Amino acid sequence: SRPLILLTGDQLSHEMSSLRDAPREAVIALCEVAEEGRYVPHHPQKIALILAAMRHFAGELRAKGWRVHYSALDDPDNVQSLVGEAERLSALYECDEIRVTRPGEWRLWRTMQERRDADPPWRVIEDERFFTTPEDFAAWSRGRRALRLEPFYREMRRRTGLLMEAGGPAGGRWNYDADNRKPLPGQLEVPRPPRHRRDAITRAVLDQVAEHFGDHFGDLEGFHWPVTRRQAMVDLRHFLGHLLPHFGHYQDAISDDEPFLFHSRLSAALNLGLISPREVCDAAEAAYQDGLAPLNAVEGFIRQILGWREYVRGLYWTRMPDYKRANHLGTTRGLPAFYWTGETELRCLRRAIEMTRQNGYAHHIQRLMVTGNFALLCDVAPDALCDWYLAVYADACEWVELPNTLGMVLHADGGLMGSKPYCASGKYIDRMSDHCARCRFDPRQSLGEDACPFNSLYWRFLERHAERLSANPRMKPIYGTLARMSEARRAALRDQADAFLAGLATEPAYGRGPHR
Ligand code: FAD
Repeated sequence: SRPLILLTGDQLSHEMSSLRDAPREAVIALCEVAEEGRYVPHHPQKIALILAAMRHFAGELRAKGWRVHYSALDDPDNVQSLVGEAERLSALYECDEIRVTRPGEWRLWRTMQERRDADPPWRVIEDERFFTTPEDFAAWSRGRRALRLEPFYREMRRRTGLLMEAGGPAGGRWNYDADNRKPLPGQLEVPRPPRHRRDAITRAVLDQVAEHFGDHFGDLEGFHWPVTRRQAMVDLRHFLGHLLPHFGHYQDAISDDEPFLFHSRLSAALNLGLISPREVCDAAEAAYQDGLAPLNAVEGFIRQILGWREYVRGLYWTRMPDYKRANHLGTTRGLPAFYWTGETELRCLRRAIEMTRQNGYAHHIQRLMVTGNFALLCDVAPDALCDWYLAVYADACEWVELPNTLGMVLHADGGLMGSKPYCASGKYIDRMSDHCARCRFDPRQSLGEDACPFNSLYWRFLERHAERLSANPRMKPIYGTLARMSEARRAALRDQADAFLAGLATEPAYGRGPHR
């Protein structure tokens, strides 16, 4: 038999389940297609990362003796859609089956599933790079009234044995988050990320992307992503040696100058398959066992990968396609126009967007508590915000972007991802960052010209959604504060917020187009 094995751009690992037991006659296809590159205006660094990683990986497969067909973006025969191109190649090489590991998007997965009985048939195999499968997650969630990360995470710790000692959690506690909320210290030395050598393949990709996608939001100059497994391992070692020991304490901090702080920057390499979540977690655990990093840091880091990353993936695969249409708070506003320019007087937003443009990266708290929180407080529609996050981050894949944006940020899934919305006022941003001292607005003021807009927007948001949120036990204290406020002050805050929103330029809101 001769299967055509399709590897998508985020399946760049020699361990892919689709490659297992493949006969030597198999043809491995990697396809660059315009359909995937253009449905949102991806950041040029994201496009360059994926193309460079794909081209390097094709070379590695050839070096191992595989027969590889690489469809380049500008091949004249390229039909420019992933499914179409795989079928063209399977006919060309007279293959009797198209084999693929579960792709990272429900839309593609469904199309492939629907072609199970086509000629030649498609066979979709489970992705084994994760700690769980969608089926495991469905089994875990069955019969639970509410889904929460914490019980899932504990179950995952038990199942994998990560940070377990004598049947219990290492150090006696499951979660060291309480130690991980330090604001930035006055003086902070953050080690520089590794600069990877750009070989001829990477340079050619960067030139091509500059030419074809130079009009998209995002700079290419700062491109620093690992495009091979070897480079990803350099980043992992850098993280373990220099950043992990401080990861915990400053996990929630935001800096006006330092885009990466002590974060690993490993998400893109993980999502593309250059490194595996298991090896990253094992390496972090070993750093703890060898006394090189404290438990609060290692536990906090492992929770992100073993907990959150698996949890959002489980939600995605078990709740799609309805998940994508969820809009619990019924919001309709378009994306603030400055999300594409950074031109705003709000310093925290300006810096988060500038860093995003420069690096194709913002760390979790910038995404959640700055750009995300602002969009939540301004009633931005889920589809408008999701498309932005999917476009602007180098690590963005729908299975992880969607639950984070729609669920965690916008509470649009009604509380599946998080028990309460992560809404916060300017005071939170002031506590966790050094932006406010450089901002024209004052986070201690809620009314008047100099008041930080986050403040009145925050109260407006709470008032607007009181019916839905005030009974939530975690929201009770803040609703208590709101209840004690005089009606005059509430009205003034409402007017202040409404005036701000009236002046906010936004893109037109839109429903999901037919291309999605
Ligand atoms: P670190 O802080 O070093 O964390 C380590 C790893 O944990 C990350 O590499 C990532 O693999 C995992 N992780 C951490 N938080 C999460 C989370 N909430 N969900 C899933 N995995 C997590 N992550 C993506 O990989 N792709 C996305 O498209 C994406 N979109 C997001 C959109 C929004 C609105 C928000 C709030 C978060 C999003 N995240 C996404 C999650 C998270 O912000 C990024 O994984 C993280 O910032 C990547 O940087 P890092 O590798 O330095 O992470």
